[in-house]
Amino acid sequence: MSAGGIPTLEDLETELGSLAGKRILVRTDFNTPLEREGDDVRITDDFRIRAALPTLQWLQERGATVVTASHLGRPEGRPDPRYSMEPVRVRLGELAPGVELLENLRFDPGEEGNDDAVIAGLVEGIDGYVNDAFGASHRAHASIVGPPRRVPSAMGRLLQREVEILLPLRTAPKRPFVAVLGGAKVSDKLGVIGALLDTVDALAIGGAMCFTFFAAQGHSIGDSLFEPDQVGTCRGLLERAAEAIHLPSDIVGLTAEGEVATFGTRLPEGAKGLDIGPGSAAEFGDVVMEARTVFWNGPMGMFEDERFAAGTRAVAQAVANTKAFTVVGGGDSAAALAAFGLDDDVDHVSTGGGASLELLELGDLPGLAALREGRSGDG
Ligand code: ADP
Ligand code: MG
Repeated sequence: MSAGGIPTLEDLETELGSLAGKRILVRTDFNTPLEREGDDVRITDDFRIRAALPTLQWLQERGATVVTASHLGRPEGRPDPRYSMEPVRVRLGELAPGVELLENLRFDPGEEGNDDAVIAGLVEGIDGYVNDAFGASHRAHASIVGPPRRVPSAMGRLLQREVEILLPLRTAPKRPFVAVLGGAKVSDKLGVIGALLDTVDALAIGGAMCFTFFAAQGHSIGDSLFEPDQVGTCRGLLERAAEAIHLPSDIVGLTAEGEVATFGTRLPEGAKGLDIGPGSAAEFGDVVMEARTVFWNGPMGMFEDERFAAGTRAVAQAVANTKAFTVVGGGDSAAALAAFGLDDDVDHVSTGGGASLELLELGDLPGLAALREGRSGDG
């Protein structure tokens, strides 16, 4: 039994005696990006399929028959050929011959509804279950929380690595521990900000999120994105941890006339902040370089537009350069890192955005709790 009291693949093998001839259901995250041309659907990136290979191959090497299951896109609870698993099945067949793949789990509303009938269908004829879908483990969906209550279960290698890296950030990070948070919506991340403030030595905040904090400080923010109903909460966080929180000291954005400009921390009427400024990028880089542990989630600006990518690039560069232990979570942050060609220079890029934040915030996820409780769960 390893990280967080959750059974590993080895524990599953012990429990089942042998895996030879056993039928093992593996919940994977094959929610891969797709490209459509008329009726033709192709996978544009097979990263998530390759990420599951260590678990799939480990099981196959021991003689198990491996059946995988995943969701893909948002088919709204009914069969939709646009979200068929077929393109994934083709690539999986090349990478892991012999591994079966069920149809898109979300073709049935009972998947998201955590329906008993769906769970019964999934475990029928199955000897054991493995969860390797970290990115879906914060959801109490049927395929995540159901099978562990019915059959011997374990976490796969991918899930194990996420837990072993993320959980110690809550309890035993090498200090200084610095978190850099950005992205669009502060409301998505307030929970984790609150939890991180209990453990971090410094928390740098950029992205659109910083404007709700600026508003809490009484600064004018022009037309920048912000969430009026979160201003009070941000004010509370600033009162609680003024020393730990680093906000930008300058902002790059557009003037009311639509010209790119650099501002201080008070934006003129009609101006829109879209990136942290060069001074802040340097400061945040320094904060990162002083750390021994770094967690980064969320771009510093609208990095998809090259005019507003410099802040995110500076943070990505610092995260890549530092000798600290570095963890990046979040789909867009990971995409930014890859776009800058720096994804090989961090210690861990989490495969789950929402899941990594929720694990840092709460120290547990529904999918992990289900594995830990096993068949003593709720019967
Ligand atoms: P992640 O997926 O890494 O968790 P989010 O989904 O929270 O990140 O946020 C990413 C989005 O935030 C990006 O599309 C980016 O363009 C946007 N964003 C960042 N800063 C700003 C800003 N100042 N104004 C508008 N959008 C922003
Ligand atoms: Mg995102």
